[in-house]
Amino acid sequence: MVTPDPRAEAVPLLCPSDQLGRCARCQQTCQRYGVGGNPLCVACLAAVGKAQQKGAGG
Ligand SMILES: [Zn+2]
Repeated sequence: MVTPDPRAEAVPLLCPSDQLGRCARCQQTCQRYGVGGNPLCVACLAAVGKAQQKGAGG
């Protein structure tokens, strides 16, 4: 089980700064543009993905 670190507000800058933006859901800095960019940060993507997997079994 992964516990979010309250100090880990800054995400690793693995992409050019001009591709960074604010997450549409939690407003934290994430890669929004360019290859691999997404309007949602990784955490929100995971949350939304789970919500969309209704009836997927398991
Ligand atoms: Zn987010």
